[in-house]
Amino acid sequence: MSKPKNLNGGPKTMAKKNKNNNLVAEKNEEAMIEGILEGSPEGIGVVIVRLECGCKKMAAVAKDGEPASKLIMYRDQAESICDKCKKDNGDFMRVTEAFIHWSKPEPSDAVKEIINAKVLGSAPVVN
Ligand SMILES: [Zn+2]
Repeated sequence: MSKPKNLNGGPKTMAKKNKNNNLVAEKNEEAMIEGILEGSPEGIGVVIVRLECGCKKMAAVAKDGEPASKLIMYRDQAESICDKCKKDNGDFMRVTEAFIHWSKPEPSDAVKEIINAKVLGSAPVVN
């Protein structure tokens, strides 16, 4: 009789949220993120792009979705990025995951969505 009305139309938003929450910064990425945000007062978050070769790209993003820092490429426990990345600069074809790590206090979901769309194209990329 009393169908919970909230569930109607809810799953879509839920799914979207879950998708975003699936991707969180790893411990070793957090140190990088902190460093980037420290050097980028404009930054409200950091874009994290993971490549299939294991290298990563990061850049701070400002509240208008524009880059707030230089793009940083690095590889965990390595002095430099791999030869592949040196050649193609971490081509987007080789991206396995891309998402934004928000600094606290996090912006509203509406703002996040706008910036996500601007920076990542649409939803986070998960291959
Ligand atoms: Zn690489």
